[in-house]
Amino acid sequence: MSRKQPGDDAEVIVVGAGPAGSAAATYLAKAGLDVLVLEKTVFPREKVCGDGLTPRGVKQLIDLGIDTRPQAGWLHNKGLRVVGGGITLELDWPDLASFPPYGLVRPRQDFDELLANNAKAHGARIIEHTTITGAITDKTGRIVGVEGKQGPDKTPVTYKAPLVLACDGVSARTALSVGLDKIESRPMGVAVRRYYTSVRTKDDYLESHLELWDRSDPANPVLLPGYGWIFGMGDGTVNVGLGILSTSKAYGTTDYRQLLRSWLDHTPEEWELREEHAAGKIGGAALPMGFNRTPHYRNGLLLVGDAGGMVNPFNGEGIGYAMESARIAAEHVIHALSRTTADSRERALHGYPVALQESLGGYYRLGNLFTKIIANPAIMRNATKHGLPRKRLMQFVLKLLAGLYDKRDGDFDDRVIATLTRLAPSV
Ligand SMILES: Cc1cc2nc3c(=O)[nH]c(=O)nc-3n(C[C@H](O)[C@H](O)[C@H](O)COP(=O)(O)OP(=O)(O)OC[C@H]3O[C@@H](n4cnc5c(N)ncnc54)[C@H](O)[C@@H]3O)c2cc1C
Repeated sequence: MSRKQPGDDAEVIVVGAGPAGSAAATYLAKAGLDVLVLEKTVFPREKVCGDGLTPRGVKQLIDLGIDTRPQAGWLHNKGLRVVGGGITLELDWPDLASFPPYGLVRPRQDFDELLANNAKAHGARIIEHTTITGAITDKTGRIVGVEGKQGPDKTPVTYKAPLVLACDGVSARTALSVGLDKIESRPMGVAVRRYYTSVRTKDDYLESHLELWDRSDPANPVLLPGYGWIFGMGDGTVNVGLGILSTSKAYGTTDYRQLLRSWLDHTPEEWELREEHAAGKIGGAALPMGFNRTPHYRNGLLLVGDAGGMVNPFNGEGIGYAMESARIAAEHVIHALSRTTADSRERALHGYPVALQESLGGYYRLGNLFTKIIANPAIMRNATKHGLPRKRLMQFVLKLLAGLYDKRDGDFDDRVIATLTRLAPSV
């Protein structure tokens, strides 16, 4: 592998300008590398999402140098409101050394454009309206660039670079083109969401509903492993949605849009979450979890964000992890490109999956196990019934589910979580 050769279009190509791609491009450009981002859509554009960030995601924005103050257009929240088993509990985000004690909400329409502009401001080039259809490899199977279609006429294009970051989201087209299929034994989620114009638009907490009933057979309602959310957007609307795990029997056999409507029809009428208050259509997408596509580095290709299955299996959060994996990937690319021999560069790049394992591997193994355990409706029912009334226990659960613990020098709960992640078996 060499640095930019005559004929190359950049030192690094990034496919996709979502949170993973824009974050990676920012770090790479900041380090003075020649980065080219190729993005399928044109900004500003909508992205189906819950639009919520826990403190784990906020930390990544701060690392990127983004101003997260309310004056800069961010809606802050102070914790999670959990509703289930007839109980409502408000749990504040923990105050930790590693993460700030606040979460954020911002529509992805705006959020993704802001991150892309941040990457541009640091010197990354972004070409929109360019759909990458696959990687180009040399005779040895090493990536030398990508090919795709550009503009309204779908003009065939190729771009060359010695390194490519696949940040193209759950479709993972670049990875698939070199045979990196998803690992079927790892969990997936599916989530749907819709905006409503609602009185609940201003809220200091992200709200999560743990009891998601499939009432398609009224005589036999089924409790599903997943949760619903109501996130006030502060602009007169709320983002409401639900997510289900692939470990559930309901996965792939449920009409998720209908499930969303049916859940909302059972919420209090004054919340204004009925059809007549809907603002826009229901959108949905898959959530690739627990490192469900590996290896994260091979032959010049790094998988980042959803393309590498980085969604947290405990809570379906993916924006923060996309930016976190982008930071780790960029760090390894920067080191690799600073070296003078091909072997040495390659060694640095192989450090990327190792570093990912170190920072998230044990936690995701635990999360993958969790998705198998809560797939049992009886366990889910008992956990909600007996867990929710215990605020102290729920504070621990919040830390566990949102990955909000200090790995070093933490309190008792943090040490328990850190120990569990070390012991978690691979499933
Ligand atoms: C309904 C729903 C709700 C969610 N809610 C939350 C939430 O509240 N909080 C949270 O943290 N996470 C949430 N997630 C998960 C989160 O949306 C993803 O984990 C996150 O967007 C991953 O970022 P990414 O950059 O890896 O991929 P993406 O955000 O998917 O970005 C990929 C980018 O690549 C582009 N692209 C795709 N294919 C190509 C191609 N072939 N060529 C060129 N460009 C391409 C896309 O246009 C896009 O810009 C939710 C997901 C869903 C489906």
